Amino acid sequence: MSPTRITERVDDTARADAALVLTDVVKRYGRGPGAVTALDGVSLTVRPGSFTCLLGASGCGKSTLLSLVAGLDDLTAGSIDNVERAVAMMFQESALFPWLTVAGNVEIALRVRGVGRAERRRQAADLLETVRLTGFGDKRPHELSGGMRQRAAIARALAQEASILLMDEPFGALDAMTRDLLHDELERIWRERGLTVLFVTHNVREAVRLGDRVVLLSSRPGRVLNVYEVDLERPRRIDSAPVANLAAEITDALREEVSRHAG
Ligand code: ADP
Ligand code: MG
Repeated sequence: MSPTRITERVDDTARADAALVLTDVVKRYGRGPGAVTALDGVSLTVRPGSFTCLLGASGCGKSTLLSLVAGLDDLTAGSIDNVERAVAMMFQESALFPWLTVAGNVEIALRVRGVGRAERRRQAADLLETVRLTGFGDKRPHELSGGMRQRAAIARALAQEASILLMDEPFGALDAMTRDLLHDELERIWRERGLTVLFVTHNVREAVRLGDRVVLLSSRPGRVLNVYEVDLERPRRIDSAPVANLAAEITDALREEVSRHAG
């Protein structure tokens, strides 16, 4: 049995008020018998200033979806209306330039925007303060811990002044304690700056800890299986009972989907 396809109905009011509208997005890699359908009819409306977590099993098309939104790849069918045009992307590996200092990595994003030299220096210092890396601007990425590198990557993303932040399992390689701290920091920065965040993870608790909504994708091809509104007070703790309870419910749905796919 194929999963029920839940297509959000997007009326004109919702569309006018959205940061991002995905309509029946299909992505196929390759052609002929070897073609892989990574996404098959994903529809989603993202409100400005909201925090949306995309959750699904490995290989279900989460990274594909983000790269389509970022414009790094072409859709096979459907459409993406990116109302707030500017997007910044962040990955599991910080992707900082190893030959530049931490401050240099932030400044290069400012330079791309045409910010003058003195102003670049000032803004980079401010951004490093925002991610609590004051005093580390002169270090090279390899001199930082994994958590600090991801802080630097957040600063660089913020330097792009994008209103939409796309995050692809950004904390997946970090230990639990560091990840908890970065959840707090990201939540603070998201609220202070009114960012729209699209956050990909395969960690259910992380999704519930962070998201206003958790969008559960089916196994390949990716479709929207369910959307959970996370109506829990912030700031949340990843180990709190309400987070754990909702995470357990979503985990059951994810498990069912994975076993349906495997069987
Ligand atoms: P996820 O991020 O959820 O783990 P991906 O979006 O990376 O999933 O991949 C979804 C599916 O598309 C996988 O089966 C993957 O092998 C396939 N895929 C991803 N990128 C490519 C590509 N460039 N060429 C061919 N197949 C790809
Ligand atoms: Mg991925």
